[in-house]
Amino acid sequence: MSRVWNFSAGPAAMPLPVLERAQRELLDWNGSGASVMEQSHRGKRFMTMAQQVEADLRELMGIPDHYAVLFEQGGATQHFAQIPMNLAREGDRADYIVTGHWSEKAASEAAPYVQVNVAATSKAESFLRMPARETWKLDSGAAYVHIATNETIHGVQFKHAPEVGDVPLVADMSSDILSGPIDVSRYGLIYAGAQKNIGPSGLVLVIIRRDLLERATRPMAKIFRYAEHAAHDSMLNTPNTWGWYLAGLTFQWLKENGGLAAMDVLNRQKSQMLYAAIDGSGGYYRNPIDPPVRSRMNVPFTLHDSSLDAAFLQESEAAGLLALKGHKAVGGMRASLYNAVPMEAVQALVDFMSEFSRRHG
Ligand code: PMP
Repeated sequence: MSRVWNFSAGPAAMPLPVLERAQRELLDWNGSGASVMEQSHRGKRFMTMAQQVEADLRELMGIPDHYAVLFEQGGATQHFAQIPMNLAREGDRADYIVTGHWSEKAASEAAPYVQVNVAATSKAESFLRMPARETWKLDSGAAYVHIATNETIHGVQFKHAPEVGDVPLVADMSSDILSGPIDVSRYGLIYAGAQKNIGPSGLVLVIIRRDLLERATRPMAKIFRYAEHAAHDSMLNTPNTWGWYLAGLTFQWLKENGGLAAMDVLNRQKSQMLYAAIDGSGGYYRNPIDPPVRSRMNVPFTLHDSSLDAAFLQESEAAGLLALKGHKAVGGMRASLYNAVPMEAVQALVDFMSEFSRRHG
């Protein structure tokens, strides 16, 4: 078997012990004689596991009891629409802070359901920095304020929850959830697609303050209503059982490895190592993001001469470094350093980068 160092932005690397355990349990899960994918979500075994997964997540993130945790589907993209459907009444306004591709998409997908106000954006500066909090034009009558805590493509990240007063803060944490401790009580709703720090794609976590469940007054099918999902413990219909199970294995792995405080330290070290290699390359490699808001999860970088890109990608892959091609919106390279990417992987990457710059000097 040969596993590569995987820098994919998502679906992304999963912890090796999680994959190995899933492999061991695949044919006979929990003494049932069948895989977890082959049994009812309403069976006792699955229900017991599902409750444990939620309890583990609550413990890891310190989620207070007055928040519901939902195991949803549809990708984060579906929730771009479902959030205004549930949190905004007919005619309501909502503030969006646009700091990159994903928060921009969230705003445009919300527009059929709420009056979108872009209260701040760094688009004119190519999303290289965050709009300063003092410049945000927030509306105190808004139904909510939406941010993406980490922009997976542009590589900018909020390091703290911004202060937005009494208006509920809604955060797309798809690409930095579980990367370090956060204060859940600062948010009205947190959502995250699973395919970066949680497990396989097809599962979306929604953590919602329970009072907000009562907001949805417009007519909509039950399947879109968060309150229905909460009332049915995320089993309104057949959930993504495989994703739920793997999320649970990831949460256990996190607990066994020091929880989110330990991830915070590790993610800081990993990203610092890579940014130091880029900044110390004398301009051979470049990351143009304002340093205080550089992402710890997704590090985009360019080579000083883009005609070397193809060689960089080919040689890095040959060296066992997978998925370094940047998103077409920004070009160049991108290394995603999620929880499951160990320090050795980052060390291998910076060694390769240094050697590549010598060979192609
Ligand atoms: N938000 C962020 C921050 C993302 O990185 C992504 C996907 N990469 C999405 C939303 C969209 O997620 P999905 O493809 O699961 O709908």
